[in-house]
Order: sequence, then C-alpha cells, then structure tokens
Amino acid sequence: MRSWTSALLAPVLLLAALATPAPSAAGDPDWVFYTSDKTRYTSPWFAGAHRIMIPFGCTRAPYYSPDPRCADGRGFHHGIDVAMPCGTTLRNRYWARVVGNDALGPAYGATPVVLRNRKRGFDLVIGHTRRVRVEPGDRLKPGTVFARASDDGAPDGCHLHFEKRSVGGGLATATWPRRLLRLQAAG
Ligand SMILES: [Zn+2]
Repeated sequence: MRSWTSALLAPVLLLAALATPAPSAAGDPDWVFYTSDKTRYTSPWFAGAHRIMIPFGCTRAPYYSPDPRCADGRGFHHGIDVAMPCGTTLRNRYWARVVGNDALGPAYGATPVVLRNRKRGFDLVIGHTRRVRVEPGDRLKPGTVFARASDDGAPDGCHLHFEKRSVGGGLATATWPRRLLRLQAAG
C-alpha cells in the first residue's frame, strides 16, 4: 500500500524534475544576465569566480517596478546579483554583527542575512541565502562561513543579492556594494 506521503510526493518530484534541469557546466538554466559584463569575479565573500547577473541601479530586468529614477519604465535594483551555483559558501570579510531580517520582504527569500559594521558604516543585506548558521546578535569574526547561496525567493536561479545600506538606513540608502565586496576579475 502506498503511503499518503509517497502518493503526494511523486507528482511533486516529477514536476520539480521537469522545472529544474540539473545544473551543467554552462550554469543554472534559470540564469538570465542583464549586463554585458562577462567577467568572472572573485571576492573574499564567496567561494569561486562568478558573473554579475544584474548590476546595481536602473535595469531592464523585469522583476522590479518602474522607478522614477529610471527612464523607459525600467526598475531600480538596489544591490548586485552574482550568479553562483546553489550551495556556494559565503564568508564575511569584516567583523560584523548579525541584525534581524524582519523588515525585509519575501523577495529576499525566507532567510536573508543582514550584517552590520558600525565602524565601516554599512549594513549588508544578502538575499537568497540558505543553510544560515547564524542568528541576530551573533558577532562574526572575518572569514566565518555563515550561509550558502540558493534560489530561495528568486525566479532566476541560484545567486546572491548583495545590498549595501547605511547603518540602520533602510532600502533608500542602498549604494554600489562593489568596493565592499572587493570584486576582482579572475585571471
Ligand atoms: Zn538582486
């Protein structure tokens, strides 16, 4: 006799297999790049070398509402998205305090991480993280593995969204996180 779980799971697993083909060397089939920059970047924040999928600022990517700052009905992306395989490890570059993520909407996934460094003057919001090993109040020393990349809350495959804000400043204070991430073109 089939248990109710296998009866329920069989069609779900079949659908999941159809919807998400196995990642290949070419990358996640759901990735869509809204930039001409094909450089692969390394960063002390993540393992490996990866491409930017959506840069900071006005973008033609269809996931954001039209923004008054942008022409032609384009939306505004408050961070940068870096495409990377699911499970890629994430480390903090600087000392940081983990801050609560309650104010973030579902677009960041269910378990985004917010790190704060008052001395350097940033809140760093990282969206689409999974397997998060830290909680609000934790103080992380540099080099701590604290989460992994996933596609949680994302329609466009596994990646991480890095959003730099001023300390406690909220979404409106978001600026280019490129320096904070110390992106370097892979040789
Ligand atoms: Zn993003």
